Order: sequence, then C-alpha cells, then structure tokens
Amino acid sequence: MKNNIIIVTAIAELGRSRWIANSRLGSHPCCPRKATHAEVAVMGKIPRQCREHVTIRVYRVRKDGSLGMARPCEHCQLYLFREGVRSKNIYWTDRNGIWQRGLNF
Ligand SMILES: [Zn+2]
Repeated sequence: MKNNIIIVTAIAELGRSRWIANSRLGSHPCCPRKATHAEVAVMGKIPRQCREHVTIRVYRVRKDGSLGMARPCEHCQLYLFREGVRSKNIYWTDRNGIWQRGLNF
C-alpha cells in the first residue's frame, strides 16, 4: 500500500446502478490541477440520461484510514451542475470527516 497517496473516491448511485471512480490527488506534483478529480471521472461513466437523477458521494480516505476533506472544487461543482446533477444530491466529507450535503460554492 502506497501511503503517500491520498485517494478521493466518488460513488454515484441511481436505483440499483452504481458507478465508482478514484482520483489520485498529488499524482502530478508539478501540475496537480491536471489530475482528474473523482467526481468528474465518475460522471464520464454515467449514462447521460441518468445524470440529473444520480446521488453522488465523494470522500477522501486519509493515510490513517479516517475520512478527510473531499468537497468538490469550484471547477468540479460547475461541471456537475452543468451535467444536470442537483446540489441536494451531492454528498461529501469535510475536513473533520463529517458528511455534508449540497453545494453552493
Ligand atoms: Zn475538482
């Protein structure tokens, strides 16, 4: 297990369907913004007609196994909204590992 990599995972669910994607933040130390964030990666797997109905959960697992900050960044928020995802259907873990619901910048 590489413990210098912090993984952010996004799980999208709709009915019995489930899609999962990971992001490896810091995998591109010279240009971290080029890393594909999990919430964007997972959207690419979801059929277009399902996107406005999915529930998305984004969480970060720290080295010690606890949950950490995984709030979608501004770019991802805009992307998710543009794809039709509703704010109330987006859940993410904050810096204390507590689940939060919704986004409004
Ligand atoms: Zn992002």
